[in-house]
Amino acid sequence: HAKDAGRNTYRYFTERLNSDGIEYLRITQGLRNALSGGQLVLHYQPQIDLASGALIGAEALIRWQHPGDGLLSPDRFIRIAEKTGLIVEIGNWVLHEACRQAQAWRQAGHAAMTVAVNVSAIQFRRGGIEQAVRAALEASGLAPECLELELTESVLLGGAGNMSAVFERLKDLGVKLSIDDFGTGYSSLAYLKRLRIDRLKIDQSFIRDVVDDGNDAAIVCAIIEMARALNLRTIAEGVETAAQRSFLLEHHCDESQGYFYARPLPPEQFAAFAWPQP
Ligand code: C2E
Ligand code: MG
Ligand code: MG
Ligand code: MG
Repeated sequence: HAKDAGRNTYRYFTERLNSDGIEYLRITQGLRNALSGGQLVLHYQPQIDLASGALIGAEALIRWQHPGDGLLSPDRFIRIAEKTGLIVEIGNWVLHEACRQAQAWRQAGHAAMTVAVNVSAIQFRRGGIEQAVRAALEASGLAPECLELELTESVLLGGAGNMSAVFERLKDLGVKLSIDDFGTGYSSLAYLKRLRIDRLKIDQSFIRDVVDDGNDAAIVCAIIEMARALNLRTIAEGVETAAQRSFLLEHHCDESQGYFYARPLPPEQFAAFAWPQP
């Protein structure tokens, strides 16, 4: 796929011949070094059961510990990695590292916890995702039911009908599947009855004003009710306040995640949050 990468780069430069191009080249070059030089790290954000307050899992979120620019957020480099195709290697690294960490925590005596990994639509459509998942599970020894893949609705677009076959094979491996940023995509809802999805992640744009904005409240409630009818769990993203938490609990959302509980944390800080020492 080096050829693909070249073609994408060319298209990019013909599309936008401006200063962005220099930034693009700089980041692409740097990303290759980051991958081989151990500059990529995962932070973990707790996911909380709303009714009990129990920790049920963690979402792994990538950061780039850049030698000159400090800790870079994924918004700075994931889109570029997708354009160059480097996202496949990065995605495989994320799968391996997240499974390794989850299994290490488990072996340290902490109860089973799900680790959720974001999978780029590009990596999903390129194929090989099943082998990558299988390899990460085998290398780490993590039980498949402890791994969740977060996919956006964009994986359902463009790809032909064989996408549902990939979903089927991933479910046959025993991993969990969730739809990230639910409600912001352009795909039809028909896939919800066809695909074996475990949970919907309600996009944080609906949560932000859910307490004050009747339209957001209506959308959130409709998603929760639909999910319940379809036997899917719901998790709210971007929960920042006690009022949002109460609203979600009252309206029977299952789980939540957000700064109200904790920011994404480096592994040691996550462990201190999740399993505090008396
Ligand atoms: P996402 O998967 O929807 O992740 C949620 C984002 O919301 C994260 O940003 C998280 O830090 C942020 N967030 C969590 N709680 C709150 C809150 O209460 N308020 C607000 N305002 N934000 C909150 P982050 O870590 O910068 O990641 C951004 C996006 O980058 C992710 O969105 C995901 O699409 C992508 N990404 C992150 N890690 C990976 C990865 O390993 N692989 C791929 N392919 N994409 C990733
Ligand atoms: Mg996510
Ligand atoms: Mg999201
Ligand atoms: Mg997002």
